[in-house]
Amino acid sequence: MAKERITESELVLPSLYLMNRRGGSVSTSDLIVALEDMMKPEGQDIAIIANRHDSYFSQKVRNLKSHDTFQKKGYAVYRDGRFYITEEGRKFVEDNMSNIEYLLGSDFGYSDVRQAFGRIAKSKKHLPVPYRETVEEGAVRTGETVSRKRSKKLRDAAARHFSENGIIRCACCGFEFGEFYGPEYSKSCIEMHHIRPIFSYSGESESATIEQALKNLLPVCPNCHRTIHRNHISGDRLQAFIDTVRSMHHKAQCSGASWNGAAH
Ligand SMILES: [Zn+2]
Ligand SMILES: [Zn+2]
Repeated sequence: MAKERITESELVLPSLYLMNRRGGSVSTSDLIVALEDMMKPEGQDIAIIANRHDSYFSQKVRNLKSHDTFQKKGYAVYRDGRFYITEEGRKFVEDNMSNIEYLLGSDFGYSDVRQAFGRIAKSKKHLPVPYRETVEEGAVRTGETVSRKRSKKLRDAAARHFSENGIIRCACCGFEFGEFYGPEYSKSCIEMHHIRPIFSYSGESESATIEQALKNLLPVCPNCHRTIHRNHISGDRLQAFIDTVRSMHHKAQCSGASWNGAAH
């Protein structure tokens, strides 16, 4: 069972990232606002502590100062109300930049993101580059060659893993591009939803990592993908919802060609 509230070590890397981005220094109050804006805390972390006018999240950020969290690791120092990032802190951010961009840029859930930040902060070695993947060639956004090579392997593996008779259906609604648009526009625009953040684990073989990565992907059509993220729900939940809607339509004997044949 994952801890429900954010920990100090989960705040280390995103805080250093913000310091670095702001020219190396930030005040505690600015750091609280910026972290909330960036990480979008939810649940118990945004509950207000009784008689304090303060959330658990902002209290944790303040603890970074009172517990000397950055000083102990040599990542930043605190002077006159501000944190100042050190060379060591800067290096830590730069070494993990692709991890940070991956975690902040992929619409993962809040608890997944903070726990992944905690894992990076706790690991002695820097975690290798993340797997960020879609089946579509053009959608690989990382600029790193090594990551591109890995991504190509995962992309090929995903195409094999998810296709049946050469086609990949949306795991939520069953949509298939060729079926609807016909042979002329049949090139699939299926997207890969990342269920959880996943990194390439050092110490594991590439095939083991790819196997892990595949378990974290869900092929979805662009509509379902948007809906998942817009509503902060899982693919499973959307799929169950679609099934319910379909059976209601079915009971009402609503024909509608677009509803038929797609459910699997
Ligand atoms: Zn769909
Ligand atoms: Zn997604």
